[in-house]
Amino acid sequence: MIPATFVQAALRGIRGKCPRCGEGHLFRKWLKPLERCPVCTLDLTPQRADDFPAYIAILVTGHLMAPLIIALSLDFELGPLAMVSILVPLALVMMLGMLQPAKGAVISAQWWFGLHGFVKERLPEDTPSDPA
Ligand SMILES: [Zn+2]
Repeated sequence: MIPATFVQAALRGIRGKCPRCGEGHLFRKWLKPLERCPVCTLDLTPQRADDFPAYIAILVTGHLMAPLIIALSLDFELGPLAMVSILVPLALVMMLGMLQPAKGAVISAQWWFGLHGFVKERLPEDTPSDPA
């Protein structure tokens, strides 16, 4: 069923589901979207996520890591090697873990706003009540 709001469509994409029906899988492999939703047959070939999911992952990871880096350097007396051995793997896991959800959200946004050849679809508006 077509989502009522953009947030609902984006949440479906974040979960790796089709933004239109919310049931079919969005990805064939980790970051490789299917050509069509297996449930509602939404054509997913117009998606052009490009590098945007990576920018989102880097931006979010950076903002989450900054307070951690400050806390680790102020509250613990860790050497540079200990800091690197904690922070680099954590940053990599966070960024890699965020790529697919970010790509799903970007594809959902492109579908919701009818970009790049996606057809803009909306639920029918509620019929206005009788003016009285
Ligand atoms: Zn679908």
